[in-house]
Amino acid sequence: MSIKIVKNYINGQWREAENSGYLDVENPSTGEILAKTPLSTPAEANRAVEAAYEAYQSWRNLPVARRVKPLYKLVDLLRQNEDKIVRVLVSEMGKSIPDAAAEMKRAYENIEVACGMPVLQQGDKLIGASFGIDGEVMRLPLGVFAMVAPFNFPAMVPFWFLPYALATGNTFIVKASERVPLTMELITEYIGQCGFPPGVFNLVNGDKIAVETFIDNPKVKGVSVVGSSKTCKIIAEKCAGANKRFQAMGSAKNHLVAMPDANIKEMIRNMITSCYGCAGQRCMAASAIVAVGDEMYKKVCEKFVNASKEVIVANPLDPQVADEPMVMGPVISAERKKFILEMIERGIKEGATLALDGRDLVVPGCEKGHFIGPTVFTDVKPGMEIHKTEIFGPVEVILKADTIDEAINIINEHQYGNGASIYTQSGYWARKFKLETECGMIGINIGIPAPVASLPFGGMKISQYSDIKAQGKAIINFFTEDKIITERYWPE
Ligand code: NAD
Repeated sequence: MSIKIVKNYINGQWREAENSGYLDVENPSTGEILAKTPLSTPAEANRAVEAAYEAYQSWRNLPVARRVKPLYKLVDLLRQNEDKIVRVLVSEMGKSIPDAAAEMKRAYENIEVACGMPVLQQGDKLIGASFGIDGEVMRLPLGVFAMVAPFNFPAMVPFWFLPYALATGNTFIVKASERVPLTMELITEYIGQCGFPPGVFNLVNGDKIAVETFIDNPKVKGVSVVGSSKTCKIIAEKCAGANKRFQAMGSAKNHLVAMPDANIKEMIRNMITSCYGCAGQRCMAASAIVAVGDEMYKKVCEKFVNASKEVIVANPLDPQVADEPMVMGPVISAERKKFILEMIERGIKEGATLALDGRDLVVPGCEKGHFIGPTVFTDVKPGMEIHKTEIFGPVEVILKADTIDEAINIINEHQYGNGASIYTQSGYWARKFKLETECGMIGINIGIPAPVASLPFGGMKISQYSDIKAQGKAIINFFTEDKIITERYWPE
């Protein structure tokens, strides 16, 4: 049987990419090769830029209410085909079916928020800025934007940007993650049926070569990247050097703080989904727990470890587990698994206690899958490598603090500042945590404080290399340029 080759979508046409080679797309649960994805050449990436640039000349002049019309259609089409998209997503990424369905819901939400562009893109007018002079702020599109996607949310993350860019009158290119290109390829089928003129939306597959080409091309006005902080820093520096707009959302180590008054039963259940959903491969996954006080520390260690043992680890497409609410699939690749196993070794050498060891887990029938069972370290100290590093797998570290100030300090001294949550019934502690914790997204009794689409999404410190966060109202500023008019008219 011939293997499927992933295609690019440029100027409204599917095409075999001009490429410098292919990468295998693997089902991480089974090791089966699902497809080959092309590494697009600079000429191919520039072809997409040219198409988007041509399309921009008329797309920007289309009334905004007309620009959002295809988005209404898109959200309907995606909903109608959700099951199909979810299956593709699960087969190439390995997250559970409910996790993939939840990812789709957030994509729809973003499209729906962007449909409000006729109101959101309104500028300002100041009558009487001076004597007989008025001032006006126009919010205009800029041109071609590109988006660089990570592997862990192949359907949702592009929609943090795509609908806003198009609705504001820009044209767009997505560079899918080379590890999971099939979900966006399928979604692009539906984008192609919505009535966007050719070139308004384009899909390019490949690696950093395509991204570098976009940054080097002066017709690309901005780049949004979601990926590791290392990648974000590289792209942010290159974009800044090229006087290009950028948004760069990076890595994380999200802490959950258990206060002595927390509702322990609800908290443990909530922590489990936060820590092990997507096998810990969410940028909002909790990967460090800080228990405050000796008693809470003992309780959390015991109850969290016991609850971790109950997590079902399986191929998420196995019909036997399809309806289970908490199924944990594999990590994305053999390479990532190797790194995670090395980090576990490191934790043991650093002197932390390996309270639950998921290294030897085998899922029957999926011996070639990249599974790791829930793994928990206790007696972890700030500064240990297993606390400092984003492991991005089902490995949790539990630390103890004596006070809320110490817990907040542990988080604030960490290099990453994406999300953090506190479990408490005390309004005083909750308020202190909200105000003093240096993270972009804060949860109070919420293990995954990922904001809804109408609110901004993004972190602090090296979890974000830009001022403007994804989604929400603020992203309109990224995709529009303010032009300020000062005008007066003399009498005839
Ligand atoms: P990655 O950094 O390896 O790759 C992300 C994208 O960047 C891919 O499309 C890749 O082709 C491209 N890329 C990689 N190196 C590049 C380079 N040198 N120049 C230009 N482009 C380059 O990330 P990943 O492994 O796909 O995703 C996981 C990471 O993403 C984790 O660190 C996770 O925390 C982060 N993430 C962050 C958020 C957030 O909102 N902050 C959301 C999802 C994922």
